[in-house]
Amino acid sequence: MSNAIDTATVAGSHGSGIIPVYDPSNEELIGEVVDSDQKIVDEAVARARETFESGVWRKLPAAHRAEVLFRAADIIKARTDELAAIEARDNGMNATAARHIIKVSHEMLVYYAGWVGKIHGESSNLVSDGLLGTFENYHTFTQYEPVGVVGLIIPWNGPFFIAMLKVAPALAAGCSAVLKPAEQTPLSALKLEEIFREAGLPDGVLNVITGYGETTGAALTAHPDVDKIAFTGSTEVGRLIVKAAAGNLKRLTLELGGKSPLIMFDDANLDKAIMGAGMGLLAGSGQNCSCTSRIYVQRGIYEQVVDGLAAFAQMLPMGGSDDPNSVLGPLISQEQRARVASIVDEGVAAGAHVVTGGKMLDRSGYFYEATIVTDTTPDMRLIREEIFGPVGSVIPFDDEDEVIAAANDTHYGLAGSIWTENLGRAHRVVNELRAGQVWVNSALASDPSMPICGHKQSGWGGERGKKGLESYFNIKSVYIGH
Ligand code: ADP
Repeated sequence: MSNAIDTATVAGSHGSGIIPVYDPSNEELIGEVVDSDQKIVDEAVARARETFESGVWRKLPAAHRAEVLFRAADIIKARTDELAAIEARDNGMNATAARHIIKVSHEMLVYYAGWVGKIHGESSNLVSDGLLGTFENYHTFTQYEPVGVVGLIIPWNGPFFIAMLKVAPALAAGCSAVLKPAEQTPLSALKLEEIFREAGLPDGVLNVITGYGETTGAALTAHPDVDKIAFTGSTEVGRLIVKAAAGNLKRLTLELGGKSPLIMFDDANLDKAIMGAGMGLLAGSGQNCSCTSRIYVQRGIYEQVVDGLAAFAQMLPMGGSDDPNSVLGPLISQEQRARVASIVDEGVAAGAHVVTGGKMLDRSGYFYEATIVTDTTPDMRLIREEIFGPVGSVIPFDDEDEVIAAANDTHYGLAGSIWTENLGRAHRVVNELRAGQVWVNSALASDPSMPICGHKQSGWGGERGKKGLESYFNIKSVYIGH
């Protein structure tokens, strides 16, 4: 094993096997983790349950719990270089992107640490009709109680950040958790357990288990002693999770796929709009659920924008985790790259035109060129499916109503981006887009305080912000008669 990351091998002797972990930018083996079987899942859930019932975390004074989270945030900040190096090699992303992931993860934890103890119910004095015709007096209040043991299942794009999106509110709420990272990128999540322990989180409150989705993930999802699953991943797996969670009717938060439109009107600031569309499409090599891969451009500026986007795509340097100058990294696996290529090839066979890109790179690592496609039709997989690769289709339109209908013609509803200098038009189109997150003259902006709640088949519930925290609580209504 070359350049093995020392934390890659997880303790645990009774896993059913070992999962090799590769750097997708050079196909080097960088570690191995346990393929957790049912017994490991059961033990992790039992540890979480024991800590939840004993109250060793949830019953601590709020200030103590907040301190632990703030301390963990400090440790993450201090260990940015080390964590970014792990994240880069695990996912294949470059050092700048990896450092950004660690930075926004730190910010997310600080945000939720600040919420500890600040979620309150409401109270009132009620007078109700009693059964015997008398009035009854009550002092009533609602209280927020942590939902219990939560299973957190995350994908391979930005793994440390997506883990934090779930771990931070779960711990802030007082839950105990079992976290399962993606089999492709398990390494940084393992560090989380260590970091929180060092920060003073009691043992057993956060448990990280590694394994494949269809076995370890499925066992966690179906586990009768898990109260909630928070999942980020594909819509297809989201459906499996809904079915598996039916046994004990777990609470679910699902952050699923997207096929987000970007709409560019002819009054947009074109330089900014082209760069925004390029980054909206190509950040993370398109491996981003909010990636704006359907780019609708008003006809008068269409040719100019296609040329501009092609030039932007060609300009971005490609490289792996060891290349400080790269912007575009590899795709996560050979299978994923083959899938992306098949979607493009199928579109071309049906009449689509590749303006730039459309090929795999002839080097080690799962690289696929930044690709701009025109002449698509609405039925093509290029337009209908979440590609999760650096492939965008540019589609001309004539007027507002037409583009709103086209933008909404999808099962997904995660995000959308509008480029215009016309304020009235911006508001009209914001109101009509069926998506949980809309940017005007921006793409991919995000903040810990702003929830993402996928519409349609992009999800259930929401993450980030107060809304994200609330999903880790049950509400109890209390009537005190007097
Ligand atoms: P992506 O398309 O981003 O790979 P997936 O939806 O396939 O996303 O996987 C996201 C996460 O869900 C990963 O941690 C994966 O192991 C897990 N997963 C996959 N299949 C299942 C399943 N049937 N039950 C629970 N978790 C699963």
